[in-house]
Formats: sequence, C-alpha cells, structure tokens
Amino acid sequence: MAAIARRMTGAAIHPIRFFGRLLLALMGLAALGGGASASAATLHIDRSLCHAASGIGASDASLADRHFSCTGEPTGYQHGSLWLRADLSRSPGAQRGAALMIHHSRFDRLAVAFSYADGQVRWQRVRQGDYGSHWRAGGQIVFEAPDRAAPLSAVTMRFDRLASHELVRARILPKSDAGMQAAGMAAAVGAALTLLLVSTIYSLSLAVAVRRQYLAWQAGWAATMLLWGGLWSQIHLAVLPFMAGTVSAQICTFLACLAIAFATASSVTALDRSGVPAALRGATLALGVGVGLAGIPLALMRSGPIDLWAAVLSFAILADLAAVALCLAWGWRRGATEARDFAAAWCLPMAVLAFINIVDVEDGFWGGGSKLLVLLAATWQALWLSAAATRRLARLRVERDHARAAEAQERELARRDPLTDLPNRRGFIESVTPLLERARNDDLPAALLLVDIDRFKSVNDRYGHEVGDAVLCRIARRIARWEGPLCSVARLGGEEFGLLTVGMEGIVLDRFAESIRREIAACDHADLLGERRVTASVGVAEVRPACDFQRLYRIADDALYEAKHAGRDQVALQRHRDGSGPSPDEPDRETILSG
Ligand code: GH3
Ligand code: MG
Ligand code: MG
Repeated sequence: MAAIARRMTGAAIHPIRFFGRLLLALMGLAALGGGASASAATLHIDRSLCHAASGIGASDASLADRHFSCTGEPTGYQHGSLWLRADLSRSPGAQRGAALMIHHSRFDRLAVAFSYADGQVRWQRVRQGDYGSHWRAGGQIVFEAPDRAAPLSAVTMRFDRLASHELVRARILPKSDAGMQAAGMAAAVGAALTLLLVSTIYSLSLAVAVRRQYLAWQAGWAATMLLWGGLWSQIHLAVLPFMAGTVSAQICTFLACLAIAFATASSVTALDRSGVPAALRGATLALGVGVGLAGIPLALMRSGPIDLWAAVLSFAILADLAAVALCLAWGWRRGATEARDFAAAWCLPMAVLAFINIVDVEDGFWGGGSKLLVLLAATWQALWLSAAATRRLARLRVERDHARAAEAQERELARRDPLTDLPNRRGFIESVTPLLERARNDDLPAALLLVDIDRFKSVNDRYGHEVGDAVLCRIARRIARWEGPLCSVARLGGEEFGLLTVGMEGIVLDRFAESIRREIAACDHADLLGERRVTASVGVAEVRPACDFQRLYRIADDALYEAKHAGRDQVALQRHRDGSGPSPDEPDRETILSG
C-alpha cells in the first residue's frame, strides 16, 4: 500500500518489493499478471538491462564507445543521459519481428537503438512534446525494430534528463503482440473512462439535486480519476500531441494526489457529524488536504530527491487511508449506512493496492499493469458509490411515501368521527368552507340543515348507552345516503348531524328538509327499542348569497331551537336574503315551521 504514490504518480519507491517478489515466487503467482504475452520479455535494470551514464552532449553515435555496467544501480544521470542496453543474442525469440514497449514517463528525450548481428544500428527517437507515431493509448510508446536479414543482437534506450530510473518500464515482445496489447489496453481504458465520465455526471447531478456535499466531492473525485486515467493512458495525445511526456506525467502526479484528497473529503463528509468524533474527522480531512498539496511539489520535481519525496507521500497516503478506514469503521459501528456503502466501495481499491504491492503486475494487463488495475478499481468504486447513492435515495423516497401516507391517514382520522364514520365537525368545516366560498362567488344559495335527535338522553337512560350508540349509527347511516355532489353530511357532535347543500332553495329545500325529518322518524328501531319511535328536529338556514359557516350555523341553530320549541319532530327554516346573521328585527328574514 505504501506504493500508492508510485503506482498512481509514476514516482518511484519499492519498500516491500523484495518481500512481494518472495511471496510471488512462493505462491507461484507469476501468472496473475494476466494478459501478458507469453513471449514478452520484461527488461529490468537489475536483471536484463546494463546501464551507463553520460553527459547530455554525447552523441547517439557514441553508443559503440559506451561501457555498460550490468551490476548495481545507475546514478548521476538526472542532468545527463542514462543508457540502458539489453543483450538479445541469447533470446532467439526476440531477434526477429520484435517491438519495444516503454511506458511514458518523465524525460526530455528517448532514443532507441536496435543493433543487428551484422553491426548495423537503427535509431528511433521521441522527445517531450513529440511522440510522433510511437504513442499508443494505454500509456505506451512503441518502437518496432525494422525488419532486416540480420537478427537483432541488442536494444539500447538512451534517456535524456530522466527523473528516475525506477520509472522505466520496458518490454520486448513480438510486433503482432504489441499491436494486440495496445488495442486491448485502448478498449479497457476507453470502457473505464466512459464509466468514470458517467459516474462524474451522475454524482454531480445528484449533488445539485439533493444538495449533499459528499456527492460533490465524489463527483470531483470521479472527474479527477477520469482526467488522471485520460492523461496517464495518453488518450489526450490524439488531440493534444504537444502534451506528450513529462508535462502529462507531472499533471498525472498532481491529479493522483488531488483524487485522494477528494475521495477523503467525500467519505468524511458523507458521515453524520454526530457519528464520528470531530477530532478524527478533522485529522482525516487535514491528511487528505496534505496529500493533495504534497502532489504539487512532487509534480513539479524533475530531479533531486524525487524518490524520497514519493516515499514521504506514500506514508502520508497510508496514514490518510488508515484515517478514512477508521472514520468509516466508527460510522459503521454507529449504524451509518453511508459508512457501510463507502467501506464496500473502498474495499476493492484497497485490495487492488495491497495486491499490486505484493504481486508485481507492471507488465501484465496488456502492459497497463498496476495503473490499469487502479483505474478499473476506481471505476468500480465510482459505480458502487453511484449505485449506493441511488439505493439511499430510493430508500428515502420509500420512507417519505410511508410518512406521507401515515400523515394523510392521521389527518383523515382527525377529520372523521370514529363511531359513525361520518366526517366530524372539523372535517365538515374543512370541506364545506371552499364550497361556501364558491357559492358566494357564483351567487348561489346555500343551506345548512341541523338534525338533532329528540329526547335522545332518555333513550340512553332507558336502554343504555350502547343501544344509544347503535341507534346513532343507524341514523348516521341513513343520513350518509344523502351525501352527494350537492350535499355534504357530518356528525357535528353528540346526537346532532349537519347537511350542507349548495344550489337548493325555496320549496325544493323545504321538501328536502321535510323528507329528512320523515325518513329519520320512519327508521325502524324495533330490534333495539321495541315500540319506541325516534324522531329528530331539523333547523334549516337558507342564505343567498352564501355566507361563512359560523354565521350559517348560528342561523340553523336558531331555527333548530324554534323547531324544538314548537314541539319537536318539526322542521324550522330561516331564510336570509342578505347573508347577515340572525336577528329578530331583520326585515328580510322569515321563519317557516313544518312537521
Ligand atoms: P332534545 O330533544 O332537547 O334534543 O333532548 P336530548 O335529550 O336529545 O338533548 P340533550 O342535549 O339534553 O341530550 C343529548 C344526549 O345525547 C346526551 C347524551 O347522553 C347523548 N349523547 C351524545 N353523544 C352520544 C353518543 O355518542 N352516544 C350515546 N349513546 N349518546 C350520546
Ligand atoms: Mg337532542
Ligand atoms: Mg343536541
């Protein structure tokens, strides 16, 4: 894991390479480099490559005069040239139709010499800002040995102003394999970048839609990984060829550090403030910012202690990842779903980083090696986080729908009378208020009929409250049948019911009120009360234009009082033509009694 910076930034450090290789040998995991051609040969400085250093002014033709050392590590080349030579005289497979694939890196110029058994040498050259036809999507520069009658005897690479020899990744392989691997890499990188682009747009849209900060960081992280992947794999050279080489590598280094900073910010801000101690959050964020800032000098460095700086950065990244893991574990223990989702999203990149530290896969995966694995892991992580955010939103929506339904049910219950299931006074007022307003605007008549059961107290007293309830329910069911587009009904309280009509007046209303009185009186309660009849008095308020409910109720109550006073089982109707309240001396008020 300490090699994250090297994997992502191209800077060099191998703190546990020895143990990794030992483990690799012990486990027989060499094949896990997957995709590497069986006939590809990796060129390593400590194994197959001999090295020499020279001043920058030495000409390429001085190759014949170079004295190569095949032991130890090269030094003193950062301001001059590093010559690396592979002897192919003992590799018959590499002597014909061979290609040299080198990963792009930080250097000013690279000259490749193919030496033949007949003493001839053929040179091919690229320089910073101009990779010509040698660049391939996937971060490779490919040099194909010209076909000649004589077999290849050696290949030499001359790097001018190379930042570090640890950055050199070179392989000799058949030309046909080189083409196939470059195509494979391009496809894999293209797919990964497309998915990262989708994830970036999705996260950004979600961040705007639901205004969650961590989604914006997540979008920033995915966008940074997208840029990093694009630059590292050299896809941009198709449109910006002058960015070939060091500039791209330097920007990649910075982007890699920035991506880690974004990922840290995203995972920390996703967690509830109350779920993780403020000190831990603060320290983790500070580490993330530190890694992001450390990328700037590392990106600008061309020589000097680049390996040392990369080592320091590696440990900073390690500490940052540990802090993020601690935050997520803390949040998880406190039951934060975000922590679970982030932990799941991070586990694959973690496993990949651990894997590439133990197993050297630099030459596998069509030459994309660890960087391609990191890109694919980042893609997986971006997709997982997007899916997790979608799942969370879906859960929130379901919860919101449940809450709304419960709220609506509660509101409905508060508007209904539990005994008779008719609307109660509150529900009645809520539903008739807009009807009355519309009636007033349309200059329509409105009427409220108050139905009060006569001497109901004595029913309770004689037959018991439960029988009283049953009688009430029966009458309520009869009254409910009058409910319709022109008539709203309710139990206004006790044994009093209300009916509000709009558009009904005069004789039609008289007849309606009378039919109510008659039908209630005609209800059969023989099973509950024997011979006893139950009657009701009806007080009717008829107004035109319509007035508000309170005023209408006062008039109807007044009429009901008159009906009771006139001996019960009566209809009393008060007609008001100006919508004003009940007052005995009002000239346009009339009371009609019937029953
Ligand atoms: P009036 O003809 O003057 O209206 O006589 P009344 O007895 O009906 O009037 P009063 O207002 O004196 O009594 C109303 C009674 O209605 C009192 C109460 O016991 C009864 N009542 C009110 N709500 C309920 C109920 O939910 N269930 C039962 N069983 N009785 C109720
Ligand atoms: Mg009564
Ligand atoms: Mg009453």
